[in-house]
Amino acid sequence: MSSFPSPLSPAWQPDDHKPEWNNWRWQAANRLTTPEELAGFVSQSGIKQLKKVIERYPWGSTPYFLSLINRQNPRDPVAAQVIPSKKELDFSIPGSDEDPLAETRHMPVPGLIHRYHDRALVITTGACFSYCRHCNRKRNWKRGIGPLGKSAISKICQYLKATPRIREVILSGGDPLTLPLEKLDRLLYALSSISHVQVLRIGTRAPVVLPMRITAELASLLKSYRPLWVNTHFNHPAEITDESAAACDRLLLAGIPLSNHTVLLKGVNDDFSTLHRLFTGLNRIMVRPYYLFHCDAAKGTDHFRTSVFKGIEIMSRLYGRTGGLCLPQYVVDLPSGGGKAPVMPSYLLGVENGVAIFRTSEGRIIKYQGVHGATEEEE
Ligand SMILES: *Cc1c(COP(=O)(O)O)cnc(C)c1O
Ligand code: SF4
Repeated sequence: MSSFPSPLSPAWQPDDHKPEWNNWRWQAANRLTTPEELAGFVSQSGIKQLKKVIERYPWGSTPYFLSLINRQNPRDPVAAQVIPSKKELDFSIPGSDEDPLAETRHMPVPGLIHRYHDRALVITTGACFSYCRHCNRKRNWKRGIGPLGKSAISKICQYLKATPRIREVILSGGDPLTLPLEKLDRLLYALSSISHVQVLRIGTRAPVVLPMRITAELASLLKSYRPLWVNTHFNHPAEITDESAAACDRLLLAGIPLSNHTVLLKGVNDDFSTLHRLFTGLNRIMVRPYYLFHCDAAKGTDHFRTSVFKGIEIMSRLYGRTGGLCLPQYVVDLPSGGGKAPVMPSYLLGVENGVAIFRTSEGRIIKYQGVHGATEEEE
């Protein structure tokens, strides 16, 4: 197998970090986004081929995240997530859709998805620090959706106020932490002022792709809106670095509990050993694995999709090896806005004459009497 050709642009040699390296503004301002900046990761002829891909699905990532790529490894797990691939224009698996979860149809007002009984999700912006090739909202990138404006926010708040069953609002995107702090503050303030909104949640990949963004100032802003949860998005143990662990710690110390979404990605993390290292690694940095998502049927992500049965098999093996605090729930987000369906391995094989038959994670069969509990009293 051939390795990626060198030379990197002198703007950012990971071995020779500039003094600005730890400044998130420098990282954000020096994101790599043009086809030419793919040099160092793909060959010149590769870049030509990728121009068409980038026209449809733009690329961009931070010097920090790109520095995690081992360019000697043609199957580097970080590169697979951020470097565009011509496979993104292969649309071979049937059923792929631009909007696989029918999110657009579940927007009662622009920018707000209300698909579950007591939670609603705000698309705060279309922007991200780093564009994940497997993103299920990649349809939006080209439209360059900016942060929500004042009038959109006020319409969203009107809907939320009129819908008292909503007790949790999730800020998503794009990445909400790309918003200027004043804007984020105003939005959190408006949402937390709605009396029945009990809990806020932010979904962000910043701790992974731009950990410097988690400044003391940001952590203290979030602290003032507790109860507030942050969900992040680690997909591979290589993403757990000193920097990302420190970013998580700044949030934890501000009293913000951290959970993690992982997307099951073919060739990146669809094997037992990688996920075991990822989930136990997250446990060590006190980030709770929350969901393992089966990769959605989003157009442009066919090459990341693996078998649901493989996912279940990996989860079964994980059950035998580690504990509940390291184990996410494996879910398939159903098409047409059906919502998340858990697809966990089952340990209950059946019930015969009131005796339940279980298998253990080591494969032993164990009978369990009295599974129906106490008999109901006749009235
Ligand atoms: C996943 C999701 C949620 C949150 O669901 P949880 O199970 O509470 O994590 C809310 N709204 C939308 C549209 C979602 O996709
Ligand atoms: S950070 Fe989230 S919204 Fe942004 S590209 Fe990645 S998966 Fe999509």
